[in-house]
Amino acid sequence: MANLQLKDIRKSFGAVEVIKGVSLEIESGEFMVFVGPSGCGKSTLLRLVAGLEDITSGELKFDGQVVNALTPSKRGIAMVFQSYALYPHMTVYENMAFGMTLEKGHSKEEIRQRVERAADMLQIREYLGRLPKQLSGGQRQRVAIGRAITRDPRVFLFDEPLSNLDAALRVATRIEIAKLHESMHNTTMIYVTHDQVEAMTLADRICVLRDGLVEQVGTPMELYERPDSMFVAGFIGSPK
Ligand code: ADP
Ligand code: MG
Repeated sequence: MANLQLKDIRKSFGAVEVIKGVSLEIESGEFMVFVGPSGCGKSTLLRLVAGLEDITSGELKFDGQVVNALTPSKRGIAMVFQSYALYPHMTVYENMAFGMTLEKGHSKEEIRQRVERAADMLQIREYLGRLPKQLSGGQRQRVAIGRAITRDPRVFLFDEPLSNLDAALRVATRIEIAKLHESMHNTTMIYVTHDQVEAMTLADRICVLRDGLVEQVGTPMELYERPDSMFVAGFIGSPK
């Protein structure tokens, strides 16, 4: 069974429809990348999956269960944003533990183990006692990813997580994310980017969005070799 099913999802802000009927199935453990030009609805779609926005019409299912009405914390998702959104007054450890402390029923010891495991995966253990302002941009973004791992989500959502990093760090962090997916076999990842190289190297499948609609879905090779339209060809086939 597909892990995530989107059925004719629509979203309007006031009178303006920005997601215009998106249907898509994402398999368990799949790395799905949403690409498309600025303003096509990538972030909105991600926010609908996360539950940060209400769906205007359509059905969203996780593991066969309709989740339209579930709050974000009940969906088992973790989201990593473009801006790191760490709490400035909390240490790295506290930032990473915070999501778990909000959920009831985790012992201090369990929280500590999960934070340390995530910190080891991302090689940020030595920074656990620091404040965000004592870290570089790249380190902060690793903490944001570490915080998501700590929550042990069934779905990871990334919204252009690398776009604030310089070129070298972007490559290093991209490789980190690929490794992370490999080591978390059953965790579905949805990753938004407008960077073709990121899309081509990370994705199991790419979903090309255009003006609130799915233009084409396929593996990077399928889209590269058999684009359905000039739009897709232009987006996938012309490396910058
Ligand atoms: P992308 O992430 O692909 O750049 P977005 O999902 O951010 O695109 O935005 C898609 C469209 O929806 C844009 O036209 C944007 O202005 C509009 N939009 C997004 N969020 C809101 C909002 N809260 N209120 C009104 N319009 C919005
Ligand atoms: Mg966006």
